[in-house]
Amino acid sequence: MKASVLHKFCTPPIFEEIDDPVCGPNSVVIELKACGVCRSDHHAWSGNDHDVKLPHIMGHELAGIIVETGSDIKKFSIGDPVTVPFILGCGLCSDCQTGNSTICDRQETIGFTIRGGFAQFVEICFADFNLVRLPISLGFETAAAMGCRVTTAYRALTDRASLLPGEWLAIYGCGGVGTSAIMIAKALGAKVIGIDINSLALKKAKEVGADIVLDPTKFKNIWQEVRELTKGGVDVSLDALGIEDTFQNSLRSLRKLGRHIQIGMPTSNSTIVSLPLLELVYSRQLKIIGTRGMAASRFSTLMTMINDGSINIDGLITRKLKLSQVPEAILQFGQKSESGITIINNFSM
Ligand SMILES: [Zn+2]
Ligand SMILES: [Zn+2]
Repeated sequence: MKASVLHKFCTPPIFEEIDDPVCGPNSVVIELKACGVCRSDHHAWSGNDHDVKLPHIMGHELAGIIVETGSDIKKFSIGDPVTVPFILGCGLCSDCQTGNSTICDRQETIGFTIRGGFAQFVEICFADFNLVRLPISLGFETAAAMGCRVTTAYRALTDRASLLPGEWLAIYGCGGVGTSAIMIAKALGAKVIGIDINSLALKKAKEVGADIVLDPTKFKNIWQEVRELTKGGVDVSLDALGIEDTFQNSLRSLRKLGRHIQIGMPTSNSTIVSLPLLELVYSRQLKIIGTRGMAASRFSTLMTMINDGSINIDGLITRKLKLSQVPEAILQFGQKSESGITIINNFSM
């Protein structure tokens, strides 16, 4: 098969011919129809994700058709259109059995611990437990765009932060996950402030429904501006980047009893940050919430929101590329937010 293979961190992946995946007993092999390119692919590419072993195939927001099933697979058949969360729970442990497969101790992560979707075919293990069958109304590109960013944003705002109608939400970083969060928060009835240094990302944020967009470089302290605009601070604030600046600003933007959500994966020099424990966490009684991925069992609620038009995922897709163009898609991520979601939709060239 053709694949985009990373041989050395921080160098362009090579578009080349390699062996097809072999299907294990609890696995299926999927022929890729669409795969999103996400900020976490950049972390894998740069060597900042320590799960990645070279040579490696990235890509974790995927959708396609099953072309092979392992001997233990009971719920899915060849020809089924499917998507899958990037965190694959084992399906057997108590965390998986109670809907918390994103914290499964035996988890595999597509495009990180195992090979991902920047290839013509991919093997998915623990398949009966993790695969999500696509309804006819949901196309492959929409499903791939839903992949990690939209599902992660949805779980962050609903299950983790319990965002309520009428509440204020600030979003630091209006790339794929940030714009997804804006769209979902608006559908949930919240008021949203999008914050980013990239003017294209702010334009996209406004387009998908942000009530206010702010460029932090225009203010001495962006959090002060947020607190003034919302008369005391936002109820929920989300750090979509995972760098110290956005973490600190997010925390300071909160009103008393506010909830900070860490969606962006902290890397390199932001893995350990200073925490204003007395001034903010204790005195203002803040909550700090981590979140990562979403279990397959929660996909159906989100797919209903897409189906009934509450959120328009296709509106987030800004670029469609070929498999050989993975390097340019990866390089758009750095410290800055990308604007919208890039999808690979041609896997033969
Ligand atoms: Zn498990
Ligand atoms: Zn991702």
